[in-house]
Amino acid sequence: MKDSHGRTIDYLRISLTDRCNFRCIYCMPEEGVCSMGHDEILRIEEIERLVRVAAGLGIRSVRLTGGEPLVRKGVVDLVDAITGMPGIENVSMTTNGVLLPAMIDDLKAAGLSRVNISLDTLDAEQFRAVTRVGRLEDTLAGIDAALAAGLSPVKVNAVTVRSLNQDFLAFAKLSLDRPLHVRFIEYMPVGNTEEAGGTGWGKADVIPSEELIDIISEQARAAGLPALVPAAKASKPVGWGPARYFEFPGAQGTVGFISPLSRHFCSECNRLRVTADGKVRPCLFSDDEYDVRTPLREGDDGAVRDVLLAALGAKPDEHHDKVGTERGMSQIGG
Ligand code: SAM
Ligand code: SF4
Repeated sequence: MKDSHGRTIDYLRISLTDRCNFRCIYCMPEEGVCSMGHDEILRIEEIERLVRVAAGLGIRSVRLTGGEPLVRKGVVDLVDAITGMPGIENVSMTTNGVLLPAMIDDLKAAGLSRVNISLDTLDAEQFRAVTRVGRLEDTLAGIDAALAAGLSPVKVNAVTVRSLNQDFLAFAKLSLDRPLHVRFIEYMPVGNTEEAGGTGWGKADVIPSEELIDIISEQARAAGLPALVPAAKASKPVGWGPARYFEFPGAQGTVGFISPLSRHFCSECNRLRVTADGKVRPCLFSDDEYDVRTPLREGDDGAVRDVLLAALGAKPDEHHDKVGTERGMSQIGG
């Protein structure tokens, strides 16, 4: 599938729910999102239908996200159904990891091969402050479970925020002894205004990746570690997407940098997103949405295809620094 700017679109990111067992301060309000009604959320079989139609159009990779995808009932069956679909080459998930120890065996048996686990700090108190309700050891146990189950690659995604003063070197060092791919992601000021109950972090909180690479290199040098070097092709994790990867010489994993703001990677954009209530979003940064729930509910595959193609046709060339959207990340599916 090519969009009107010549990009191949073969990646579908699906939010399974807007609910979550955390309440990260930059992602949702303390009381949780004003949750979508049961009827508003796409049913599991509707998501299966959507993926089947999308695969027919050329979608090859699917990522399940949320909210927290693992709190969605039926998620294992969904993974099972879509991993076997003609055309779908890989199914991955973005999760806070808390439910992984309990679910990893079933997920693996269902065909899940890779996972991204979100973890913004290795300090237990700060972790509690950021997630409001989470415990660091639960997410760390999720990472252990994913590695022990042999998922590959296992990526750890940390959103970097200037006001948080995170210990970046501690994160980078996670890549030393285990095959973990740590990725630093620039904070995106999306749906997080103070008026909406968010932190109000703005553009000043974005730490451009170039600056972060220098910070980590300097900290590594001070700690007597060798400098980060660009990762050899063989060490880069599969599905490397828009990250730039580095490694400490001899390390088992890598350190990646994802720069949605400082380095527009819009020219490499390969995705469409679907919200939990069945709206196709051509671009994360735009509130333009196309309703696919109605045709899914009517069982009209031709109309589902038309909606996907309409959203494809509406993909902008880039986000033009428009970073505010009306929906928060938990609703869009980060
Ligand atoms: N609950 C799952 C998790 O946390 O991995 C999946 C959904 S969460 C919305 C997906 C990712 O979006 C997380 O890594 C989260 O840190 C990230 N995220 C949320 N708000 C963000 C923002 N404003 N800027 C950058 N990343 C954000
Ligand atoms: Fe939940 Fe993920 Fe949002 Fe945190 S970032 S509140 S874990 S959806």
